[in-house]
Amino acid sequence: MAATTFYDLDHIRANFPILCQTVHGHPLAFLDNAASTQKPADVTMATKTFYETGYANVHRGAYWLSEQATIQYEGARERVRAFINARRVQEIVFTRGATESINLVAATWGQTCLEAGDEVVLTWLEHHSNIVPWQMLASAKGLILKVVPVDDDGRFLWEAYQSLLSSRTRFVSVTHVSNVLGTLLPVKDIVAAAHAVGAKVLVDGCQAVPHMAVDVCDIDCDFYVFSGHKLYGPTGIGVLYGREVLLQEMPPYQGGGDMIASVTFEKPSWAGLPYKFEAGTPAVAQAIGLAAAINYIESIGLRAIAVHEADLLNYATQRLAEIRGVRLLGPAQIKTSVLSFTLNGVHPHDIATIVDRYGVAIRAGHHCAQPLMQRFGIPASARASFGLYNTRAEADALADALESVRGIFGP
Ligand code: PLP
Repeated sequence: MAATTFYDLDHIRANFPILCQTVHGHPLAFLDNAASTQKPADVTMATKTFYETGYANVHRGAYWLSEQATIQYEGARERVRAFINARRVQEIVFTRGATESINLVAATWGQTCLEAGDEVVLTWLEHHSNIVPWQMLASAKGLILKVVPVDDDGRFLWEAYQSLLSSRTRFVSVTHVSNVLGTLLPVKDIVAAAHAVGAKVLVDGCQAVPHMAVDVCDIDCDFYVFSGHKLYGPTGIGVLYGREVLLQEMPPYQGGGDMIASVTFEKPSWAGLPYKFEAGTPAVAQAIGLAAAINYIESIGLRAIAVHEADLLNYATQRLAEIRGVRLLGPAQIKTSVLSFTLNGVHPHDIATIVDRYGVAIRAGHHCAQPLMQRFGIPASARASFGLYNTRAEADALADALESVRGIFGP
């Protein structure tokens, strides 16, 4: 797609054929982008072209097609490196997604570098993917998990964080942006404070990379993870950025082909970075699709996307705030494109089911963040989340559909 000089929504939406359909007789308003985004034609075309004209396994073949596939796969790695401004491609490991990236760090760095009594700091804003791997490791190794609280507006409490840090803190694992509230965390400061006590830091960037430029050198984190499918790319591909010196020290995650230098029955030896962490045939087409997604969003510009999404979020916030009985969760000032809410007397699942009858796709449930739901004293919420292709008309469709829900359930 050619670079757009202004935010040409019609042009952008034309690249997402899936959006041009009706659902239950209404135009589809896809507002579940925090769960997964739709794919532009650039991405589906890149993977289709690869399968139709360039497909082969990578790294192993001596023949032309395999060499070409390897060039494309490694080109995708370089594309990701530049996207998050990592120093070297060796620091970019392809995984199945953010969940696998976090599990990899817990099972390798965590397994070898943490000992009983060591403390790992998380926040109440974490997705289960950034809680459960640490709980599993904690119960296996006798680690202590500490959790930074949030206030009623969903804000990260800086003083509370600082009071949890000590010489016992070995690892801090925080989300960059909350998938439930959209709260943006001050990750650069979080990293600096953790480093000051000698702890390493992982930042879960799943909900950040689609909405803002990320620079891992500037953040200075030790690990940064995200999933391709939330970034307009394919499913089945994710990224683990790791500081080279740490990746060097870490043992492999899985054993198999591609991750070894040599194998004898006495002893295997490991391949260099990043291949040590990529056992088996990788998701080649998905990596190529992810690179196409990055090209696509950069052709629009992350700054332009952020401005557009901020306008949508403000507009939708105002519209929903006008609806009697709507409670907006975590109205932190510094947030990205997520709007979680409840409606008095109506279960969030009913909200999502009814607004779907008006073509509006939103999420309902605990959003894989049950501790945060507990913090707000609710079992579930409804969540609208915006992407680069959403419109004010879609925010209106949500608000109008919610008025209908209210009408059904009474005043
Ligand atoms: N972290 C955050 C903040 C998320 O929002 C999600 C998914 O919703 C994940 C991690 C897990 O991502 P995946 O399921 O793609 O591994």
